[in-house]
Amino acid sequence: MSLIVQKFGGTSVGDAERIKNVASRIARSCADGNSILVVLSAMSGETDRLLSLAKSIVSDPRGRETDVLLSTGEQVSIALLSMALEELGVPAVSFTGSQVKILTDNIYNKARIEDIDSTRLRATLDDGKVAVVAGFQGVDAEGNITTLGRGGSDTTAVALAAALEADECQIYTDVDGVYTTDPRIVPEARRLSQVTYEEMLEMASLGAKVLQIRAVEFASKYKVKLRVLSSFCDGIGTLITTEENIMEEALISGVTLNRNEAQVMMVGVPDRPGVASSILGPVADANIEVDMIVQNSAADGATDFTFTVSRDDYDLTLKILNEIAETLSAREVRGDRNIVKLSIVGVGMRSHAGIASRMFKALSKENINILMISTSEIKISIVVDQKYSELGVRVLHSEFGLSEASGVK
Ligand code: ADP
Ligand code: ASP
Ligand code: MG
Repeated sequence: MSLIVQKFGGTSVGDAERIKNVASRIARSCADGNSILVVLSAMSGETDRLLSLAKSIVSDPRGRETDVLLSTGEQVSIALLSMALEELGVPAVSFTGSQVKILTDNIYNKARIEDIDSTRLRATLDDGKVAVVAGFQGVDAEGNITTLGRGGSDTTAVALAAALEADECQIYTDVDGVYTTDPRIVPEARRLSQVTYEEMLEMASLGAKVLQIRAVEFASKYKVKLRVLSSFCDGIGTLITTEENIMEEALISGVTLNRNEAQVMMVGVPDRPGVASSILGPVADANIEVDMIVQNSAADGATDFTFTVSRDDYDLTLKILNEIAETLSAREVRGDRNIVKLSIVGVGMRSHAGIASRMFKALSKENINILMISTSEIKISIVVDQKYSELGVRVLHSEFGLSEASGVK
């Protein structure tokens, strides 16, 4: 008997009809002789609705009470799906994160899973029942409810698959796999039948929201067999696997767009050792993740220090920089929240030169100005004005022939 973790995202459980469809799908998997552990997201739009409710009371909802509020979305869907399963004659038991005991650190709104107590889940599965677990939530050592960051149900699913040594972790969503780019931006985008953990990690961290980045990190670390599939149609989806298992490597596997980016800049800081850490230290202390960093030195001995953060952290980052600007004798603090990050990703980049120049040339032909650049072995990212978002994705997708059958993996 195989143990399969099946995670269904918000759209898949968007209304009562869809919840019943998901229940039928799970019932079929049980009838095939599998033991099924389900992880659910909140019904689509629910987490946003709860957040905007909080915003009607406080301008920047964060912290403990935000997590108490946001975690309710998933509690609704697990109860409804368990009822739908019972209706089909499939015994099911729902569990919140704290009922399972998905232990996290105490960083509200972006907590990290530290440990999972699988005792109750195992007992439920051994009893021949389906365990239905609320995604996106956990509990800290003091018993406070925490959430794992937007898209966090993917991470719950993979972490549970690792903890219970499941045979496969299936992520059911509203697209039938991982595509060369977001199929909502480029309809000609192609489904990848396989992609490496490393590429998927880059794609997730660069904006392909089909999988949360921490989910891919867990899958790669614990070698969880991870597959992305559609809950609306049958198919084999996309398998996320190791590089050795992939027969033919494409030069570029995907193009990503991250709209959740903002740029901040400390202008005219005296150029002396320790400047970078004096700027980034207080930012890190506020649990803000910094992405791209550029430092330019001018002839007058001053330096401009620019970096990007997620758009949700923009106001807080500007506030922190303004607070430290005077002590650092900086001339000015500036910011721009209307920027996006475009990236190309592919393990094939390791063995091919000239990809960056091809990328920059294609963008310049469309008069797209590049504001920042960063590269790693398997990706090149640039920051551009957000008005070029879709155009930029289409230009890069076409430049690297991603819709053509020639590059099929
Ligand atoms: P769920 O609610 O099921 O977790 P998400 O909305 O989080 O679903 O993720 C699925 C969405 O990710 C798709 O609808 C698609 O628009 C988007 N997406 C972005 N990039 C990609 C990609 N490269 N491949 C597939 N989907 C992508
Ligand atoms: N409901 C949460 C969100 O909307 C978690 C998830 O769907 O994965 O971000
Ligand atoms: Mg998601």
